[in-house]
Amino acid sequence: MKKRILTGIRPTGKLHLGHYVGALENWIRLQEEYDCFFLIADYQALGDHIDEMDNIKIAVRDVVLDWLSVGLDPVKSTFVVQSYVPEHAELAMLLSMLTPLGMLERNPTLKSERERISNTSLSVGFYTYPVSQVADILLPKADLVPVGEDQLPHIEMTREIARRFNNRYGNVFPEPDSLVGRVARLLGTDGQSKMSKSIGNVIYLSDDADAVNKKIMSMYTDPTRLRATDPGHIEGNPVFQYHDAFNTNTEEVNDLKERYTQGKVGDVEVKQKLIVAINNFLDPIREKRNKYENDISFVNECIEEGSAKGKVTADKTMSEVREKMGLNYVSSVN
Ligand code: ATP
Ligand code: MG
Repeated sequence: MKKRILTGIRPTGKLHLGHYVGALENWIRLQEEYDCFFLIADYQALGDHIDEMDNIKIAVRDVVLDWLSVGLDPVKSTFVVQSYVPEHAELAMLLSMLTPLGMLERNPTLKSERERISNTSLSVGFYTYPVSQVADILLPKADLVPVGEDQLPHIEMTREIARRFNNRYGNVFPEPDSLVGRVARLLGTDGQSKMSKSIGNVIYLSDDADAVNKKIMSMYTDPTRLRATDPGHIEGNPVFQYHDAFNTNTEEVNDLKERYTQGKVGDVEVKQKLIVAINNFLDPIREKRNKYENDISFVNECIEEGSAKGKVTADKTMSEVREKMGLNYVSSVN
């Protein structure tokens, strides 16, 4: 039997270059060897986007379009919408009883995300989203979770909660491993530590050439470099991180780096070469997206059929969980 993967994305917007190198690239490769469940985590998006139902609806479709455009295959893999399989919520609720509050409070990713939300608008649902993510992973009994680096604390929590459940009720859940992508964390175009939909410092996989041009020309580079003749820094400079990630001409990249550190090339040339590299990378993705945008009924089918498959797997796990936990009063009374 093939080993299983569960991984996902929140429908809070279109997908960006960070998703590609941090996650999607691994998913595309692994769908050949693993039984993959790709989750559109809409419950999780509601935690901090409850007033944006219209956007979530559009984003669900966009996420599927982006997945198809980069080469995820709904025949080989299963595309699931979280709320179409409400067992995700049931398992999250049950597992929350096994989760000490301190475990959530110590979670570094949750901590830094909370800093972006004011206390008055922080919902209980957002606060506990890592538990919901644990349930997402355990429901199909995933063995592996390919994610960006920011997600590692959640996978560690998943292992701990699986262990707690298994020790208390008997073996049900595997303790899943994590797998981080080629670029653990792609910087934002503004130089912030993560390209993220919520921050808006992104280049979308669906951006046209004009948008890519504008975004790259106004990108953050090395703030200590005032003139093209000043020696520049490569480290922490998102323009060079993107060159490393997307420019397949390594000779060109090495030459730019050398001249940049010697103060022998201007930002404009470095950026113009990056624009060409990123447009080359995005062209085939754009072409496929165009095709699927004209076939929305296929997009809908992918998530309806995938979610129905997800529901079958979820039902099996939940029967086992309810029985192990003793939530079967009628049969035990008889
Ligand atoms: P939001 O801002 O709404 O949280 P996001 O941009 O962080 O959106 P998610 O849906 O939370 O995107 O993340 C989906 C997957 O993509 C996760 O595995 C995450 O680790 C990965 N990922 C997202 N942004 C990056 C990035 N900049 N670099 C590497 N991986 C990333
Ligand atoms: Mg996120």
